[in-house]
Amino acid sequence: MECQAFKIQEAYMHKACVIGHPIHHSKSPVLHGFWLNKYQLHGVYGIEDIHPDRLGDFIKLLRNNEYQGCNVTIPHKETIIAHVDHLSEEAKRIGAVNTLWVEEGVIYGTNTDGFGFISHLKEQCPDEVSAIKTAIVLGAGGAARAVIDALCAQGLKKLILLNRSVDKAKKLALHFSQYWQNTEFVTDKLEHAYQYCSEADLVVNTTSLGMTGQPKLDIDLSNCKKTAIAYDLVYAPLETEFLKQANKNGLQCIDGLGMLLHQGRPGFEKWFGVFPEVDDDLKAKILSAK
Ligand code: NAP
Repeated sequence: MECQAFKIQEAYMHKACVIGHPIHHSKSPVLHGFWLNKYQLHGVYGIEDIHPDRLGDFIKLLRNNEYQGCNVTIPHKETIIAHVDHLSEEAKRIGAVNTLWVEEGVIYGTNTDGFGFISHLKEQCPDEVSAIKTAIVLGAGGAARAVIDALCAQGLKKLILLNRSVDKAKKLALHFSQYWQNTEFVTDKLEHAYQYCSEADLVVNTTSLGMTGQPKLDIDLSNCKKTAIAYDLVYAPLETEFLKQANKNGLQCIDGLGMLLHQGRPGFEKWFGVFPEVDDDLKAKILSAK
């Protein structure tokens, strides 16, 4: 009897996972495992290493209700779009999906990185967010797309997009200017950052510079406004050279860990029915995870 009861329980257990290739380094199981435990929910969150050739097979599992949904990471964030039945507006604009959920056999896809970015910014600087009119975004890769979209959605007036390959910045600015016509876009080389700093309310690093094993991001922030905010998406290490310099110049500093944690909240709610909180215990748990 006990065994049968266990099987019935298992059948009703909500299941989600993260898919990618390779995927062993993912912190998502620690994040979602923490919340499952905190809210005493009957669910599991696993890891699926899915080679690009097997993406279609995984989609069949989803449609068969094997999982309530999943997080999606490299290299599937763009290719998964072809398998999604209903794509959110932000995922369409960003051109990448990091969260899927299934309702009655229909696969929904969205991108929660912009949500994670803005939520953490609002958590850290609740009074200053509405005063952000001009922002510098350093970098024009995948993470920059989500940051640009989220800032424009908040009503940003001017976005200065600086990248090593300025052509990439120009393409991205052109792409987002179709959607966000009230935002002025300026593009230039990363090395010209100093000349724009004095007008920025926010400077965001979305490049991979400053990550462990990468060269540091070398930007002179000395002519920034004293009220400006410096936000680094890098979370390993937590205190980058960019943030150290921002701190020395009196700027408010925000590291990348909060964005990583906040971006997981909408997916967790879809799969397990609770909108989870980010707290200090969670931050400590993620930082101590190998
Ligand atoms: P990506 O698509 O590969 O883009 C990398 C960006 O960094 C590009 O703009 C690239 O410039 C620039 N870059 C790389 N090496 C450079 C160098 N030596 N000099 C100057 N610029 C350089 O990567 P991504 O997915 O956007 O991720 C970027 C960073 O954001 C990573 O550190 C990642 O961990 C972090 N991230 C954090 C979160 C979070 O939740 N906190 C979420 C997503 C990403 P070019 O275009 O000229 O190559």
